Amino acid sequence: MTIGPEVAGHEMPGPAITGRSVPVRTVARALLWAIILALSPVAAAGVPPPARPADWRWPLDPRPAVLRPFDPPARPWLSGHRGVDLRVAYDGAPVTSPAPGTVSFVGVVVDRAVITVDHGNGLRSSFEPVESGLATGAAVAAGEVLGGVRSGHCGRDPCVHWSVRRGEEYLNPMAFVMDQRPSVLLPVVPEPVPEPHR
Ligand SMILES: [Zn+2]
Repeated sequence: MTIGPEVAGHEMPGPAITGRSVPVRTVARALLWAIILALSPVAAAGVPPPARPADWRWPLDPRPAVLRPFDPPARPWLSGHRGVDLRVAYDGAPVTSPAPGTVSFVGVVVDRAVITVDHGNGLRSSFEPVESGLATGAAVAAGEVLGGVRSGHCGRDPCVHWSVRRGEEYLNPMAFVMDQRPSVLLPVVPEPVPEPHR
């Protein structure tokens, strides 16, 4: 489709029109970007922090196994896993605050015992199922015990579900305790060293 000079002239009169095909190409490019952004899972899930914050730590000691990873839904109303499930050593094992903050919620949501810590900067951690003796408003340091993990979230395996939100957006908690940048991931097993050329 081409836009004749009369048509373009009616819509955008004046000497500014020098290339008639440029507006059409610009609109097509904008539409293409809109489609790419709409289809991109990164745009829907949010971009994790480029480097992990220095003052966050694992909420369990020793460092736990991840039984179920972060798997956010493509759209807020779809199902997914809005946190990570971390294996705990035993029923009742202590879970600790991953960063300094203030307890903003302790209580039961539907049938799960939940504790939420507000870390400031819009970031909140929630853990469940956790029974806590702390009260709302209590200040907690990084590494301070929040409560004991109860069974029920991972079937027979004792585990704690940890979610991190910035505002209403769920983030990958792993981004706060592990460096997610591929270029700096260290190999677990040393690579075999090739024979040097002699
Ligand atoms: Zn979970």
